[in-house]
Amino acid sequence: MSTTPIEPTKDEITAAPAIVLRRGLVVTMDAQHAVLPEADVLIVGDKIEAIGPNLSVPDGTVEIDASGGIVMPGMIDTHRHMWQTAMRGYGADWTLTQYFVWNYLEHGIKFRPEDIYAGNLLSAIEAVDAGVTTSVDWSHGLATVDHADAAVDALESVAGRFVFAYGNIHAAPWEWTNSADFRSFVDRRMPRSDMLGFQLAFDVTGDPAFPERAAFEAARELGAAVTTHAGVWGATNDDGIRLMHENGFMTPETVYVHAASLSDDSYQRIAATGGHASVSAESECSCGQGYPSSWALRRHGVPISLSVDTSVWFSGDAFSAMRATLSSDRAREHHEAHAKGETVTHLGVRAEDVVNWGTRGGAKALGLDHLVGSLEPGKKADVVLIKNDESPAMFPLLHPYGHIVFQAQRADVHTVVVNGKVLKHDGHLVDIDLAKARAAVASTVDHIRGELGEQAWAAGMNPEIPESKVLDNPYTYTEYADSSTHSA
Ligand SMILES: [Zn+2]
Repeated sequence: MSTTPIEPTKDEITAAPAIVLRRGLVVTMDAQHAVLPEADVLIVGDKIEAIGPNLSVPDGTVEIDASGGIVMPGMIDTHRHMWQTAMRGYGADWTLTQYFVWNYLEHGIKFRPEDIYAGNLLSAIEAVDAGVTTSVDWSHGLATVDHADAAVDALESVAGRFVFAYGNIHAAPWEWTNSADFRSFVDRRMPRSDMLGFQLAFDVTGDPAFPERAAFEAARELGAAVTTHAGVWGATNDDGIRLMHENGFMTPETVYVHAASLSDDSYQRIAATGGHASVSAESECSCGQGYPSSWALRRHGVPISLSVDTSVWFSGDAFSAMRATLSSDRAREHHEAHAKGETVTHLGVRAEDVVNWGTRGGAKALGLDHLVGSLEPGKKADVVLIKNDESPAMFPLLHPYGHIVFQAQRADVHTVVVNGKVLKHDGHLVDIDLAKARAAVASTVDHIRGELGEQAWAAGMNPEIPESKVLDNPYTYTEYADSSTHSA
């Protein structure tokens, strides 16, 4: 018997006690990386109940036709400066130095709590729309706890899964992490839940006095993992890793963002202490933190997760992150071989690997792999259906991982379920107020543009093609500068 499925209405979906995605190509990302053709995924409440062909389902279950599509775990982004999304695309032609000057030294301080809210709201919606069901908000523009309250208000208003990584580039981490304001914020707003996790976000400058010790001790006391920009050319280097290691602060929960421009010794320290890396390949290619590090991390056995970094430059979807990572890793392999007069005949890194890093790898980096990162009965239902019957690029569906990485894009994200709740269906956001985000962001753009004036606004967006030099310690909270990372 064959019937033409009719897509359920929004009201049917939001009221449903259970949902089944029928007849999809299911990419589970379980331990065996099982791929099931023509399979169903049944969601009851906030969990995945069953996966398999022709599942029988409870009465009242709403059906979503997944045929011709790929059902996969929600993607996981381990590092995104969500507050900067209000400046989407503004820094397309920036280097990292120009980013530091604009944000750290000159204009980041002009962002008010409502501006942090606006960027976070848009970024949270954008992530969900693209099938990114868990995002780390690497929130380093928190000049006051009012800014932090605004950031969390925005995250709580969108039903995605988030980890709030508290940071503040305007003050020393060893000071703000121990301030009464910050501690009372943590008590009020960071009870930790499956939907909203908590990390501390700060960088280690390499100052031999290791003033960051007090910030690490605060993280330990609060039971929060540390996420840190490590191995960033011109900003952080092997000294930071060595100091963390010698002082006992490299733990399995620690996330090393970028982890480029590091020596073998640093990679070995990360691997030996069980830490995780967050590769932002689009970012590293443009900014200059160092060559996207997946090729080096693989060599040292450091577990990898992916991230989009910031929408000031880059796309906020994991398809782009997976594609950029696979391309940069393969480019490196070819480049190194050619330098030795050799030819790469078999690729070392596969499309399957980057899908793993963008799902399971992210869950592991965040300590959430018991909940999310794969489609398995008993896990939380963070599920994405990639399907677009209008698209000539959605058939034939031959290589599931290759299709996800090189063929699909955010417009092909048909359905997004987070914690059992449908947030996008049939290509449309469900119960999400995009107009509110649009108005909030417009007001932030007006404010920042007004503060800068037309000349500085235009100059910021169109950097001269100059003279490149490493300059100006971006960490304005400290006097420390090193000749390898800063000019005299
Ligand atoms: Zn970053």
